[in-house]
Amino acid sequence: MSTRNQTIIQLDKKTINKIAAGEVVERPASVVKELIENSIDAQATEIFIFIKGYGLDEIKIVDNGIGMSKEDAALAWKSHTTSKLRSVEDLEEIISLGFRGEALASIASVSMLEILTRMKDQIIGTTIRVKGGDLEFIEEKECAPGTTITVRNLFYNVPARKKFLKSKTTELGHILEIVSRQALIRPNIHFKLLHEVSVLINSPKSNNPLEPFISIFGVESAKKMLPVAYETEDARITGYTSIPDLSRATRESEIFYVNKRFVKSKILTEAVEEAYKTLLMKNRYPMVFLNIELNASKVDVNIHPTKREIRFDDASKIHSIVVEAVTKALASEDLWRGSKSILKDKIELAQTKLPFGLVEQSSIGQEKLTEKLVKPSITNQTGILSIDSELGFRLSVEGLQSESRTILFSESFWLKPLGQALQLYALCESSEGIAIVDLHAAHERIKYEELMKRYDDSKLENQELLQPITFSFNPEQLIFIKDYLFQFQKLGLNFELFGGSTYIIRSLPVIMDFSLTELDIKNMIEEIRNEIPNLKTLNERIDLIIKKMACHSVVRGGDSVNLNKIITILKELSICKKPFTCPHGRPTIIKIAIKDLEKEFGRII
Ligand code: ADP
Ligand code: MG
Repeated sequence: MSTRNQTIIQLDKKTINKIAAGEVVERPASVVKELIENSIDAQATEIFIFIKGYGLDEIKIVDNGIGMSKEDAALAWKSHTTSKLRSVEDLEEIISLGFRGEALASIASVSMLEILTRMKDQIIGTTIRVKGGDLEFIEEKECAPGTTITVRNLFYNVPARKKFLKSKTTELGHILEIVSRQALIRPNIHFKLLHEVSVLINSPKSNNPLEPFISIFGVESAKKMLPVAYETEDARITGYTSIPDLSRATRESEIFYVNKRFVKSKILTEAVEEAYKTLLMKNRYPMVFLNIELNASKVDVNIHPTKREIRFDDASKIHSIVVEAVTKALASEDLWRGSKSILKDKIELAQTKLPFGLVEQSSIGQEKLTEKLVKPSITNQTGILSIDSELGFRLSVEGLQSESRTILFSESFWLKPLGQALQLYALCESSEGIAIVDLHAAHERIKYEELMKRYDDSKLENQELLQPITFSFNPEQLIFIKDYLFQFQKLGLNFELFGGSTYIIRSLPVIMDFSLTELDIKNMIEEIRNEIPNLKTLNERIDLIIKKMACHSVVRGGDSVNLNKIITILKELSICKKPFTCPHGRPTIIKIAIKDLEKEFGRII
């Protein structure tokens, strides 16, 4: 058996840097990341990024930051040189983005790096060029204050790395992502990203914290973002999160920062998704960007070479703070901002274009809130939808007073039920056109919130059953019931041991359907038992139990309900915290906009 040469040698600096470069400089976007971070640390208020090829030909970053002296420039590209740390103690409280002193050295070892820099109070600047880790020249040169760093021929001496790179668009995509992330929470810095002659990002300085988002994602998405602002003794959370209308198929738009440092964190994504739990359908994710400000000593940023991962001192506390912050934002009145502005367009449209846009002049019940809305008009007592070419359409249902039927959901959104269709849906006139309510979904939402509240308050009214229900459970069900006896009890399902494997329920929570049979309840238990092993936390499990109980307490498809019952359901729905989705994230109300009706009927082109 042959042995390898075992002689140990000390690696030279250049080799060490090239190895380190493997970790820090993965692809062109990593260079952009490190250079932007340096510009931010240098207090720049303008950072312009120019890309040629897909970053392999040239990456140039021009900033107007504090610049470097000639002595500093001569050191900056060497390994373990930094102006941001002085001692090991400083590592405990890092406030700058950089601190390892490795980036420039790593980049310089796998490219041709040029620095042109001047401090504001100096007359002359410095230029320096390093190729593959060797200094080519350093000399004085006139230039504007600030720093320009140019990286050419990236990976020219690491062909293996080059091979790993993906297509041009993929690499550019990564660069775009890096710049967006930095720009998104720094409205005080003008970021501009150019690829050859095309401007990919231009996010000028602004006092509006949402301005970078507008520059990157557009104004339509921005209208659907809710501000997050939440503070406790331990942390301060700021940023924006989307209304449930705006969601994505991936988690890519869940963006987090800790002390303005971009981080990937499962704790944070889970927290946000918990807040959206019943608001989004399965596999849909919100758009959100949050900055979590923590005392620097409470996080460890030094656990990952590119500093992308961090460690929290108290992860579960951070989790619950983020859940609360996002929940609070989602519960705010601003949830209506999106639909308000949509509504405004519609009103204008109705006023200018519609022959039948009857604008409310007099008053109805909750008048001050609904003024200026297109008022539903009821003139016809036949219960038939009639179309009148002069006055437009009028919808009516026999024998009902319009006032008592208008149910207000918010300042700007109301529903007026007209009747039931297909034994499941409520048809309504609404402030925005026509609305169709899935009564089953709506009822589920109502019951879910009711049960949730009662679970939290531990006071749930029960009503005795005339005939107690007895259950004989199989062994698996028995184990399950025993594990969750307490939770069921809190929710008003009191399983009493009757002997052997038989349990008995003598009463039901008043909000449940009293015609439930033993089989119904057993089916419900079986559904819960099957799904519960997929859930990790007790809270998630309780939530499932509540969802299932809600689901089994409500109007089923196929039940016909009268208009009074519909009104009751809609009134209860209107005071729910999250009225527009059922607990599983499906919509409760579908709207057909006036504009769309007109289009369909050929009234407007
Ligand atoms: P680190 O950022 O971890 O300190 P780097 O290798 O990225 O290490 O940079 C080394 C040093 O070079 C920095 O500490 C800083 O003093 C200086 N430097 C780098 N880029 C800039 C810049 N754009 N403006 C001013 N100084 C810079
Ligand atoms: Mg750095």
